Amino acid sequence: MRILLVEDERRIASFIKRGLQGNQYVVDVAYDGVKGLYLAEINTYDLIILDVMLPEKNGMVVCKELREKKIDTPVLMLTARDTVCDKVSGLDSGADDYLTKPFAFEEFLARVRALLRKKRQDKSTTLQVADLVLDQLTRTVMRAGTAITLTSKEYALLEYLMLHANEVVTRTMLSEHVWDEHFDTLTNVIDVYINYIRNKIDKDFSPPLLHTIRGTGYMLKEGK
Ligand code: CA
Repeated sequence: MRILLVEDERRIASFIKRGLQGNQYVVDVAYDGVKGLYLAEINTYDLIILDVMLPEKNGMVVCKELREKKIDTPVLMLTARDTVCDKVSGLDSGADDYLTKPFAFEEFLARVRALLRKKRQDKSTTLQVADLVLDQLTRTVMRAGTAITLTSKEYALLEYLMLHANEVVTRTMLSEHVWDEHFDTLTNVIDVYINYIRNKIDKDFSPPLLHTIRGTGYMLKEGK
């Protein structure tokens, strides 16, 4: 899951970024509203975390412009202020949720998870394909009852494939949602990680669940 964080206070931005990365999210950061809007337009994010008080363009204006441009990515607004008026204008500008700083990081993460589930019909925090089960709360993976240890990048990749089970997932989708803006399109890093995952979830189990769709991408599914 790839998240855009728009926050001008560097210390807070780096704290949030590290916390999210520690939870297997991919994070791009913008330090002002104009750059935030630009990144949101050129990249595809699963969630945008938007501070209200920003230089260049404030968070409310950024949010309104995103919605006007038909970018419907969920937005979590952050602000130091805590008045009903601000909450109302934040939500009216098109934000999906609102959190007042300072906040407990656990609550922040819970809201992030809830917003990421919002687009899905199935709101459960457990993903399953055949006997492969991924728990998004504990970030653990089991196949046929056996625990599988994944690195954070492998987890992020498998989670994305499981969220799109039975669909063709292209390399572009993976580069956009599992890697950040520094992704180098000339490397074979996606194939490398797909092989790592295949070794962990398929090698010692049957039937194989991760299929290569020649010339297109990958599909996680039960059966051929
Ligand atoms: Ca700020």
